[in-house]
Amino acid sequence: MYDAAIIGGGIAGMAVAARLQASGLTTVILEAHGQPGGCAGFFQRRSFSFDVGATTLVDFGPGGVGGEFLESVGMLPLEGEVLPGYVAWLPDRTVTLHRDPTSWSRERLKALGDTPAHRSFWQLLDRLADVFWQASRKGVRLPIQSVADAIRATQAVGLGGLPLVRYLSWTMTDALRAHGLEQDQALVGLLAMLVEDTVHSTLDEAPLINAALGITIRGAGLTRARGGMRGFWHGLTTHYRQLGGTLRVGCPVERIEGQEGGFQVMTRRGVIAAGQVIAAVPAPLAARLGPEPVAEALAPYLRRDATAMGGATVVFLGVPEGEVAGQAFTHHQLLHDYAQPLGDGNNMFDGPAKRLAVNAAVDRIFEPTVFSR
Ligand SMILES: Cc1cc2nc3c(=O)[nH]c(=O)nc-3n(C[C@H](O)[C@H](O)[C@H](O)COP(=O)(O)OP(=O)(O)OC[C@H]3O[C@@H](n4cnc5c(N)ncnc54)[C@H](O)[C@@H]3O)c2cc1C
Repeated sequence: MYDAAIIGGGIAGMAVAARLQASGLTTVILEAHGQPGGCAGFFQRRSFSFDVGATTLVDFGPGGVGGEFLESVGMLPLEGEVLPGYVAWLPDRTVTLHRDPTSWSRERLKALGDTPAHRSFWQLLDRLADVFWQASRKGVRLPIQSVADAIRATQAVGLGGLPLVRYLSWTMTDALRAHGLEQDQALVGLLAMLVEDTVHSTLDEAPLINAALGITIRGAGLTRARGGMRGFWHGLTTHYRQLGGTLRVGCPVERIEGQEGGFQVMTRRGVIAAGQVIAAVPAPLAARLGPEPVAEALAPYLRRDATAMGGATVVFLGVPEGEVAGQAFTHHQLLHDYAQPLGDGNNMFDGPAKRLAVNAAVDRIFEPTVFSR
């Protein structure tokens, strides 16, 4: 009998399990695959390991959201390299998304327009990002959905940030429109691409505050862990086990039965008893696995998000080392066409690689017929 069984050994499951275990509870993680990691995991082939999704860890410096997590479970700070930023390749220009705020302020005016409207727009985003990055480190939850969320948000934002509360109901498009910039193709194209990548939403729908955080994640620090995601997971799972946690891989959960205080988790490899169950799997799966009340509680959200489900295709390409050696910026994001909807190759994020080589190869691989299948 564990205090808590955690379904899914992705970063969400691992993080909650490590926190609970470190606080003195007994936990077990049940992971379907042969190793933990999920969308932030890795796979190995011969002597190489490849990141399967996430390549960079956001805000893992001291005092950051990730940094606080490591500290709270008793781990040392993350070893790795903080990216200096990355390069956005728009159809008619490139924009270097510097991590350094001064370089970024200069670059955005040079690449995207230096008018009073542009300056005022960026000023608003900077202010929102400053206040809400600090607030997110203090545990603020957005969008605000309950009175408790509202109280927590007020405490986290502080009195100085309260005037920004009026932007809670704004979208990024509202902010562009307020500055007369909604027809600025390059600016809109860049923001749409960044918002899709980080908030998984559109400029018309993403709450402005979430979007402002999403488009400034590099300022919070994008760290490439030593040894890539394999290195990160090796450190985290070793520590979790040292805390006394149990990680069961190759153990897909098929059904969860019971009620508050006593659950049985049916897996392909036997039944696990736990006082609490935490589902750290996609919501539709949690609804299918859990007891009936879980499905009922999740139903409105699943209906709301039915058309927003998506996936990613990860392509691994080798380029000669000489083509990437010595480059300051190794991560790239590509937009092919302003007029086309995002997706299906029109907004790609590249890990360490050189843009032209990758772009040409991806164009060859992803011919339109491949997409339609
Ligand atoms: C291509 C790509 C690139 C990305 N790049 C970045 C990046 O650079 N930086 C960043 O911060 N984020 C990035 N992300 C987002 C990030 O990877 C995800 O937000 C994060 O990994 C989600 O973690 P999770 O634990 O919520 O879910 P998941 O990673 O989906 O974990 C769910 C886990 O549950 C397991 N599972 C499923 N069904 C069962 C079952 N029945 N029983 C038991 N276990 C089950 C799965 O195997 C999986 O391990 C990227 C995502 C993708 C797809």
